[in-house]
Amino acid sequence: MSSPAPIDVAPILAHIEAAPGVGRLRSLPGGFAQADQETVDAVLREAARFCADHLAPLNAWGDRHGCSVENGRVRVPPGYAAAWQTYADAGWPTLDHPVELGGQGLPLFLAAAVQQLVDSSCAAFGMLPVLQRSAARLIAAHGSEALKAEWLPALVRGDWAASICISEADAGSDAGRLRTVAEPTEDGSWSITGEKMWISFGDHDLTPRIGHCLLARSPAGLSLFLVPSDLRGEAGEVLRNAIVVRRVEEKLGLHGSPTCALGFEGATGWLIGAEGRGLQQLFVMITNMRLSAGVQGVGLATAALEVAHGYAAERKQGGPASAPPVAIARHADVQRMLLEMTARTETIRGLGLAIAVQADLAAAEPDLEARAASAALVQWLLPIFKTIGGECGFEVSSEAIQVLGGAGYTREWPVEQVLRDARIATIYEGTTGMQAIDLLHRRLWRGGEGLSVFLAMARADLPAGAEDDRHSAGACFDLLEDAARRLEAMQASPLDGEAGATAFLHLAGLAATGWIALRLSVAETCDPTRRRLAAAGRYWLSDLEDRARLAHAQSVRGAARLALFDAL
Ligand SMILES: Cc1cc2nc3c(=O)[nH]c(=O)nc-3n(C[C@H](O)[C@H](O)[C@H](O)COP(=O)(O)OP(=O)(O)OC[C@H]3O[C@@H](n4cnc5c(N)ncnc54)[C@H](O)[C@@H]3O)c2cc1C
Repeated sequence: MSSPAPIDVAPILAHIEAAPGVGRLRSLPGGFAQADQETVDAVLREAARFCADHLAPLNAWGDRHGCSVENGRVRVPPGYAAAWQTYADAGWPTLDHPVELGGQGLPLFLAAAVQQLVDSSCAAFGMLPVLQRSAARLIAAHGSEALKAEWLPALVRGDWAASICISEADAGSDAGRLRTVAEPTEDGSWSITGEKMWISFGDHDLTPRIGHCLLARSPAGLSLFLVPSDLRGEAGEVLRNAIVVRRVEEKLGLHGSPTCALGFEGATGWLIGAEGRGLQQLFVMITNMRLSAGVQGVGLATAALEVAHGYAAERKQGGPASAPPVAIARHADVQRMLLEMTARTETIRGLGLAIAVQADLAAAEPDLEARAASAALVQWLLPIFKTIGGECGFEVSSEAIQVLGGAGYTREWPVEQVLRDARIATIYEGTTGMQAIDLLHRRLWRGGEGLSVFLAMARADLPAGAEDDRHSAGACFDLLEDAARRLEAMQASPLDGEAGATAFLHLAGLAATGWIALRLSVAETCDPTRRRLAAAGRYWLSDLEDRARLAHAQSVRGAARLALFDAL
């Protein structure tokens, strides 16, 4: 297995430097002054090198090898364990954890940028650090002092791993219907009984211990528990907890990431936080998990895009019969596809990094009004980014297959794997339908602060744009505001609003990427990366208004035409 060239980190760096608020973040006392441009550049280059040397060579191999169950335990593809050890030894899991927990205290935006590189190289492997980081956040926010002392140092270092156990056969989007029960025992622990489904890295042979962050029904309601894969006996001996791997799912993609059905047969666990507050407490992980799902899509899109650009420059077909064939990148339709894919990926990449910077500001900003504005903006943009980032991975890889023609459909080229790996991102961490309902009910109907902050910030950037770009972006922002107003008027008939919720989320996605495109489009520079991003931005803006008009119409149409469903 040979290493490919490291991924070009220049576009990621350019997006970070262009992100609104990054200067402010670096200037804050106790902020992230250490994450200056030079440091970010060095970290990203090192991460790209690590990914090229240790992860990219595992990608196709892990896809073909998959995971298996041997003697009741899950085996991940050979090579993963060594890669995880190297990843942990190099300190990558510690990046954005607080220094007092053994982390490096770097910002979330840098962790999100590194995650993109990991996901471009081997998205199946990239699932594990997301779980480990999310669980550490949950325990740090709500765990008892004993749980923190036992779990946080090992989790932060990557010595131990974690899983998130929410879903069950009859409780997917509707987590509130789960049936796993937790009963208190005399020694203060809890006995957990039930069946969990689709648990990513629910078991594996990468670390000696896994902490399952599990949602179960206890006497006071839905509560969160930490259920370790292994317990410690009185003499410190390792005892297997009562958790059984029922099977590893066979699935479309991400074959190197074991998706487990787990049986908890009176397993021992410990309460995390307050009993009955499980669903609310999960929210500390949601920023990280939703951001990660969108970033995974962007990382995968980047991988497909790179292949498509390279192939289009090399593959020769067409042109005048009297002359040698020309590179397919010379054909208008191929240029259209490459522009579309690049513009989509880059504007969504920029959006994800802008959200991460705002999330850092929402934690570090001392000015309470500004902090609240950042928090509201993040809450508004997260379901949007989660969805369009996830779609970006699948749709860009599908278009990449189109650019490669028949070759793209074969296993000889890596884009068919990207397409398969990317499909899940709009399903887990909340399906597109559920993100749209979240945006409508929670972010619009229960107060539209995030939308107001977004529109104010986006409109403030309008004057800098060229006339056409300004017009297109401005029209898109107006359409979003108008759709929001009309949807607010539909609160009395929620079905009408919900019928247009996904279209509204996409309209909001066009406005958000339009904002990023506008900021990219104004770069007057000789730097080739910035020029490339400016071109991507201008392409995205060139028909933004047309796209927004369709999404606007679909958002506000109401539910009347759904009556046709009864005739199906
Ligand atoms: C590879 C993989 C990894 C996963 N990893 C984990 C994990 O680590 N931990 C974990 O707990 N879970 C995990 N999951 C489960 C995942 O979170 C669920 O699949 C997801 O939440 C959707 O639930 P569901 O599959 O039951 O779909 P359903 O809830 O049955 O949804 C099916 C369809 O109905 C729509 N729908 C459902 N309810 C509504 C509604 N009220 N209004 C409108 N539309 C609705 C949905 O949008 C969707 O289109 C994983 C799944 C996969 C495939």
